[in-house]
Amino acid sequence: MDSVKAGCACGAIRLVARGAPKRVGVCHCMDCRKHHGAVFYAAAIYDRSAVEITGDARAYEGRHFCGVCGGLVFAVTGGAVEVHLGAMDAPSQFVPTYEGFSDRRESWLPALNGAKRDL
Ligand SMILES: [Zn+2]
Ligand SMILES: [Zn+2]
Repeated sequence: MDSVKAGCACGAIRLVARGAPKRVGVCHCMDCRKHHGAVFYAAAIYDRSAVEITGDARAYEGRHFCGVCGGLVFAVTGGAVEVHLGAMDAPSQFVPTYEGFSDRRESWLPALNGAKRDL
């Protein structure tokens, strides 16, 4: 895969990530749940240098979002950018290989097939 494109709902924040991600995973921790307002987070993690971001994103504790529509597009942690799978322009481009904080997984949600847990 050459590159993936992502952005918020209104288009003010756009992002292109080039090359293969370092890893792809989901997280069930309370921080991810609260930030996304969703029962889990899913992202592809890239080196910062592989990601080009345009638009003026707002941030809360390293998690970046659009100040206009509130869309959550990416997070920055150290030298990495976590690109949210749900912000990508097309679905099913990646399959997560691990899940974090599986003890917080919703009781109705099955474990991710073949994924490593709580690395
Ligand atoms: Zn927006
Ligand atoms: Zn988390």
